Amino acid sequence: MKDIEKRGLNTKIIHAGQHIDPATGAVATPIYQTSTFAFRDADHGAACFGGEPGYKYTRLGNPTTEALEKNLATLEGGCGGLAAATGMAAVNMVYLTLLGQGTHVVATESLYGPSRMILETEYPRFGVESSFVDSSDPQNVADAMRDDTKLVYIETPANPTLKMTDVAACAEIAHQQGALLCCDNTFASPYLQNPLELGADIVLHSMTKFINGHTDVVAGMVVAKDAEVLARLRKVHYNFGGTMDPHQAWLVLRGIKSLALRMDRAQENSLKLAHFLENHEKVSWIRYPGLESHPQYELGQRQMRGPGAVMSFGVRGGLEAGKTLINNVEIPALAVSLGGIESLIEHPASMTHAGIPLEERLQADITDDLVRIAVGCETYEDLENDMARVLDMI
Ligand SMILES: *Cc1c(COP(=O)(O)O)cnc(C)c1O
Repeated sequence: MKDIEKRGLNTKIIHAGQHIDPATGAVATPIYQTSTFAFRDADHGAACFGGEPGYKYTRLGNPTTEALEKNLATLEGGCGGLAAATGMAAVNMVYLTLLGQGTHVVATESLYGPSRMILETEYPRFGVESSFVDSSDPQNVADAMRDDTKLVYIETPANPTLKMTDVAACAEIAHQQGALLCCDNTFASPYLQNPLELGADIVLHSMTKFINGHTDVVAGMVVAKDAEVLARLRKVHYNFGGTMDPHQAWLVLRGIKSLALRMDRAQENSLKLAHFLENHEKVSWIRYPGLESHPQYELGQRQMRGPGAVMSFGVRGGLEAGKTLINNVEIPALAVSLGGIESLIEHPASMTHAGIPLEERLQADITDDLVRIAVGCETYEDLENDMARVLDMI
């Protein structure tokens, strides 16, 4: 589609990176399920390896995967995307490219569990030091910066606390120090938030969540704002090998087309459920960016186009009451992950964030009573009735 950059967000979601197949007229992007591509002759092969456009080998680029990369790059306003086998392959692509011997990273303390754990357990072997701070106050990020800080890595809204971080403020802090800012935009998706436009250098997604949205694929994506950073990331990514399979790319392309529709519905359900929970006597606290009681409600209004569809809350009676809740709900499945068409509920302290030492977990506000719910697209009344029934059991 011509001038895709100038079209509306929904048009971009559906059309960016896609084209009618010139050979057959196929409207859906075909799956180029091939590991390798034949060259016309020796000179053509040499030209492709010399940097001219042309497919060589699927780990180094594939038309189906590229369609998805172009789609995300357009949605995030970056110069290009790199599709990864999983969200964690995307996270590590960024870490491995920007961090090494004698470097330091400042990161949000309540990161996605493995994004934090791997910095604590594996990267010290390569001489990387990390500081985890409550980035919801940018001053904490500024205070943690050092001369050898190469990366500021934030997640907003963060998992599972739903704390938000001011992307523009962190970009300024990172750039003053010559560091790059990377933002994990998984919770918001490009439908609700565009960190590159707010000043970040790199944005990444676990496309397993809202982007694919159908709980049937794991996938990741990194989008860079400028070509030099993209080239550095690409070199590391292609050689470490966490690249995406074309069939996987096709599934995500199919999923993303309904992103706006799913997100609108899930968000509508979330807002209603959040108000219901906030007013329920058995609920001791709730955090959701769409509630005015969220400590950073204003920031959310400023940098996001909507509050998303994930919330965390505590029930009176702590962990045991929380267990009664998650063991007895009928609609949300007791499962980790989020952003699917169906609702999911989980207990971070014993599941996704169990690998983080207790003291650090509490420091990051991931308390034992915290229950996280990712709200799906079911009939709202069913969700509320289900929750009401179980809260009455507590
Ligand atoms: C799920 C998730 C990841 C990791 O993605 P995978 O696809 O599971 O590897 C990273 N960041 C956030 C915020 C996530 O929710």
